Amino acid sequence: MLTEEQQKEIAATDSRRLRLSTVAVSMAMAIILHLTGQPLWCKCGGLSPWSWDIWSSHNSQHFVDPYFFTHVLHGVVLWGLLYWLPRRVSEPSRFLTAVVLEAGWEILENSPMIIERYRAATISKDYFGDSIINSAGDLIACIVGYLLARQLGFRRSMVFFLLTELILLITIRDCLILNVYMLAYPSEVIKNWQTHG
Ligand SMILES: [Zn+2]
Repeated sequence: MLTEEQQKEIAATDSRRLRLSTVAVSMAMAIILHLTGQPLWCKCGGLSPWSWDIWSSHNSQHFVDPYFFTHVLHGVVLWGLLYWLPRRVSEPSRFLTAVVLEAGWEILENSPMIIERYRAATISKDYFGDSIINSAGDLIACIVGYLLARQLGFRRSMVFFLLTELILLITIRDCLILNVYMLAYPSEVIKNWQTHG
């Protein structure tokens, strides 16, 4: 049997490893985004950490914007999906899997194929992909969502998900489900509703 002291030491080492791995994944994502040509920051050069107008060229270029919250929901969904992994998969492994998947999504989201699709098919005419700082913000959002869902459990996470979607739908006429839907099945009717209001 390990003493309490030893157990604490192991837990501390594990959590340090997890933090380092998370930082490493984030750095790898930033480097790949840089290599694929994403800008570090908004080309406006303004220092505001946020931008709330999704129709402006600042969208997805500053640290926080309304889509930060759809990425919080990515975290909630990832927690829900990874919950079904076999029980022997440890919590740190699940967490890291979520971080890797989200970092991978950010890279995919900024690939020419998806950017073209967003530009051609959805609301984002001026869209040239996210800035690297914005992608970092999105990854942090996902981590926040994951940790929140873990605290809330299934039912309350579901309520949180639906409430956030509703608030986004009312405030910016877009939300995670609609965004994914529009990416898969672009609709002129929805696009008109989103841009004229
Ligand atoms: Zn800007």
